[in-house]
Amino acid sequence: MSLTGDVLHRLKKAGLSPRKGLGQNFLVDETALRRIVQAAELTSDDTVLEIGAGPGGLTRLLAAQARQVVAVEIDPGLVEILQSVVSDFGNVQIVQGDILTLPLESLLSLAPVGSHEQFKVVGNLPYYITSAILRRLLESSRKPSLLVVTVQEEVARRIVAQPGEMSLLAVSVQFYGRPRIVGRIPAGAFYPPPKVDSAIVRVDLTQQARADVDDVGWFFSVVRAGFSARRKQLHNTLVHSLALPAPEVRAALDRAAIDPSRRAQTLSLDEWARLSHELRCVAGPQS
Ligand code: SAM
Repeated sequence: MSLTGDVLHRLKKAGLSPRKGLGQNFLVDETALRRIVQAAELTSDDTVLEIGAGPGGLTRLLAAQARQVVAVEIDPGLVEILQSVVSDFGNVQIVQGDILTLPLESLLSLAPVGSHEQFKVVGNLPYYITSAILRRLLESSRKPSLLVVTVQEEVARRIVAQPGEMSLLAVSVQFYGRPRIVGRIPAGAFYPPPKVDSAIVRVDLTQQARADVDDVGWFFSVVRAGFSARRKQLHNTLVHSLALPAPEVRAALDRAAIDPSRRAQTLSLDEWARLSHELRCVAGPQS
C-alpha cells in the first residue's frame, strides 16, 4: 500500500480526520521523508527528538537510523496510531503532550541508553507554532546540536535572510546557528495538501552565539524593540519602544556606527550586538 493509502487507512480505521487547527498536514511522499532524514546525517549514536510525530511516517525512518527517538505528539488519537506504526522498533519513546510546555530535560531523560548530552531535533513542524517551537529550542539551556525542520517555504526564506531582509525570526535563529535551506517540498507531498509549498531547513547550532553579546536577554529586548515597527526609522522605533531619551539613543547609534535613519531589517548580527551594547550604557543595568 502507498504511504498516502496507509495513512488514510489508519486514520479511517481510528475514526479520525486531519485537524487543521493542529497543523495536521501529513507528509506522505517517501522521497521527501527520506530527504529530511538524510539532512539530519544520523548515526547509530544519535538521540533524536521528533516534534509532531503524527501517524509516524517520519518516525519509522528516524528509528531505523538513530540510536533512540523521543517522539512528541499532542493529539491522543494520533498517538495510538503512532504506537502501532512503530511497535516493531524498540528504540522509540512516545510522549503525548505539547512541545511548548513539556520540559526538554525530562523528554531527553526518556532516551534510556547511551549518552544524550547531544541530541538532534527533526520534525515536520505544525506551522501555526513554528516560531514558538524554534524559539523554545534555541533559547533552552539544553540546546540540540542540529535542527532539521520542515516549515512553510516563505518562513524558510525568512530564517536564512541576509541584512536588508532580516526579521526577528532571522536574528533569533542566526544568533544561535547557521541555517540553510536543504530542500523544497511541494504542497502535493502532503495529505491534505496545504495552501503553500514547504522547505526543509537545517540549522547547525554553534558552540558560541554568533555575535559578541554580554547580556542575551537585553540583546533580544533591543532586537524586539527594533522590529516592533520595522518600516520606521530605527532611531524613532527604539526611542518609542525602549522609552529612552531621544538624544541618548541617537548618541548610542552614533557610537555603534549605525545611521539612525536605517530600518531594522538592514542590520547585521554584529550591528545589533554593538547597538545593544551601547544602549545598555544608556539604559543602565536595571532595565
Ligand atoms: N510528522 C508527521 C508527518 O511528517 O506527517 C506529522 C506532521 S504535521 C505537519 C504536525 C504534527 O504536529 C501533527 O501531527 C500535530 O498533531 C502535531 N502537533 C501540533 N501541535 C503540537 C504541539 N503543540 N506539540 C506537539 N505536537 C503538535
